Amino acid sequence: LRMVSSQPLDNEPVSDEELRPHVLDGFIGQPRLKAQLQLFLEAARKRDVPPDHFLLAGPPGLGKTTLAMIVANELGVPIRVTSGPAIQHAGDLASILSSLDAGEVLFIDEIHRLPRPAEELLYIAMEDFRVDVMVGKGPGASSIPLTLPRFTVIGATTREGMLPSPLRARFGFTAHLDFYPHEELEKLIERSASVLGVTLGPGAAHQLSLRSRGTPRIANRLLRRVRDWAIVHDLHEVDVNAVRDALALYQIDSEGLDRLDIAVLKAICTNFAGGPVGLNNLSAMVGEESETVETVCEPYLVREGFLIRTPKGRVATAKAWTHLGLEPQENDVN
Ligand code: ADP
Repeated sequence: LRMVSSQPLDNEPVSDEELRPHVLDGFIGQPRLKAQLQLFLEAARKRDVPPDHFLLAGPPGLGKTTLAMIVANELGVPIRVTSGPAIQHAGDLASILSSLDAGEVLFIDEIHRLPRPAEELLYIAMEDFRVDVMVGKGPGASSIPLTLPRFTVIGATTREGMLPSPLRARFGFTAHLDFYPHEELEKLIERSASVLGVTLGPGAAHQLSLRSRGTPRIANRLLRRVRDWAIVHDLHEVDVNAVRDALALYQIDSEGLDRLDIAVLKAICTNFAGGPVGLNNLSAMVGEESETVETVCEPYLVREGFLIRTPKGRVATAKAWTHLGLEPQENDVN
């Protein structure tokens, strides 16, 4: 069980739902992004047309799905949710597209993982509001163009760089979500605590925010674990000691790093003399998929100054050595 994974865990979709804000005003933080969306929605309302397609880019757990749902809700239109990996054939996408209502929002999570033929079908649908439906098989097959009502695609991606440029060009703008500062996470934790009926003692939300890796999904998850702790220990409020003890049990340290983060840093420092080391070697050493190391561990380690990416590979910083209780070693980058 990886407590600080920013991916949803299997049993989580339901609980994620209960903590989702439904209007833009309830969405905490990301002020610039909210202002951009506000303007965009307002313009669409005034023009009385569905807004342009847009892309949400950023690490998992920062609120991409939530924002897409808020946008649909604010526009008063239905939303259809799918994802790149869920669409195996272009035909899967064609049938979703041809069943969309006018103005509907189509949310495609992990859009960078759409198969090629589906991607091509999507370009046309996004630009011309048309799908070509294949009728029949073999030499007698023909394609019949089907006109679609106007709709809005909201794409979400954790790896914007992997989106082919023709697809990226179909989006009216890209909204970048960034890790949340501690003060924003603190507010988010207080909001979630009140939704969940948890009483937080002084400083508890702050302590939780420091360990949530800038990620709302993790903040909410840690809050649930400290709630468990409080229930089991018959505490009527969650105080800072409960936060500390509960998270120590789940091996989350004072910087919000978990076992995998620590394993990554240790591997760089002790197995690769501080780096530089390539992503694949590093992932193999810690026994984790390179995509997980790259999209889940690294962005936070980089942001917090434990790791830097250089053209030659990953390098541990002096802060990483110190955090591991090791003597920093000289190498050609540090
Ligand atoms: P993503 O799609 O980027 O992986 P989600 O939108 O599923 O992330 O968000 C994960 C959880 O965090 C949800 O329960 C959501 O309600 C909560 N959340 C994310 N961002 C915010 C925010 N800015 N304000 C309040 N809750 C948030």
